Amino acid sequence: MHVLVAEDDSALGHFLDKELGLDGHEVTVVTNGEAALEAAAKLHPELMILDLGLPRKDGLEVLVEMRERFRSTSVLVLTGRAGMEERVKCLELGADDVVLKPFSFHELRARLQALSRRRSQFGDTVLRFGDLEMDRAERRVTQAGREVELTATEFSLLESLLRRGGERACSRTELLQEVWRMPAGTGTNIVEVYINYLRKKLGRMPGTKQAGSQSVIRTMRGQGYILGAPSGPRNEIRSEARDEVGSEIRSQIRSETRDTERGIGPGGSPEPDGMSTRMSTNYV
Ligand code: CA
Repeated sequence: MHVLVAEDDSALGHFLDKELGLDGHEVTVVTNGEAALEAAAKLHPELMILDLGLPRKDGLEVLVEMRERFRSTSVLVLTGRAGMEERVKCLELGADDVVLKPFSFHELRARLQALSRRRSQFGDTVLRFGDLEMDRAERRVTQAGREVELTATEFSLLESLLRRGGERACSRTELLQEVWRMPAGTGTNIVEVYINYLRKKLGRMPGTKQAGSQSVIRTMRGQGYILGAPSGPRNEIRSEARDEVGSEIRSQIRSETRDTERGIGPGGSPEPDGMSTRMSTNYV
């Protein structure tokens, strides 16, 4: 597991770094609350070991923000503030476990193993790609730690793309079947329309690389849609320099029109798809 340790006691931080490293974990140590949240946003660790008494931002505040922004990271709280009340408070705020200082490393290790087992039980509840994170159990999507509000259809569409993890393109036919339960060859441009809705929502997230010119959802000519960097030759990717949705739709229609004239549907299959061109023109 990647373990983020937020502990301002440098001797303890060093000790945890060494011992957890020997157990085969990847360890990052930070010494204040703000750095803990920054590291969580950047590294998406599976686990955070969080000391409550931290400078710059108290551990309890960090815990609250972690639960709001990074729900997929398990948080184990370390506290010298003994007492059942403190422990219950941490659990109520969303800590996955609480360990009282002083503790033995054997105890901590046993607690980490229990958390790790619990995580693997829920396996792929959380889908990730780059700074995108989808928690399927919570029905939440975040990008760079910020929540993205999606409709149920947009959620399913993004889920289909995330399941391929940027390794394989998802064809228009597959998306029609998975998201809309429509058979192959259905003459509609609903996939293209919803891809553009998603691009608009994801593309507009501030502070991300996608906010400018490129969408995280790429179009692979003749193959469908894929997340992130292309795996094929660069020239297979249609240029998407303009993220204004109208221009995207227009360029898509131009391309679809060419494909349709050649008898190739947008998903790459030779579908009789004249409908899509006719319906698309409503959006010009
Ligand atoms: Ca401390």
